[in-house]
Amino acid sequence: MAQVSKYLRRVGGGYAHWCPGCGETHVIFDRWAFDGNVDKPTFNPSVKITGKQCVIVDGEWTGEWVRDANGNAVDMCCHYFLHAGQIEFCGDCTHSLSGKTVPLPELKPAPGGSGQSQKQEK
Ligand SMILES: [Zn+2]
Repeated sequence: MAQVSKYLRRVGGGYAHWCPGCGETHVIFDRWAFDGNVDKPTFNPSVKITGKQCVIVDGEWTGEWVRDANGNAVDMCCHYFLHAGQIEFCGDCTHSLSGKTVPLPELKPAPGGSGQSQKQEK
């Protein structure tokens, strides 16, 4: 799908961006209010993603879940505001950026894409 800026990619039903907390791409769906600024985007209200913690290696999900000592998949939560190109993570996130505000990072190559073969030249 079309990448509309360094930070956002248009996907079916929403916009995808890189989440540095989860190390994966999140999609914000069209029912969120978007100010239309693709370089310093603002979406409202906050985004909350819950599920199971994925095992991520080199930015790609291995297909496995993070498991506790009993073998149960561990719950994850990623809750943030995206305001003017800044991701403001809430304190209930399960990842290491909980409670922190970080600039929205540039998109990574799409999962499954051959990122290593892509070269950027000017
Ligand atoms: Zn996240």
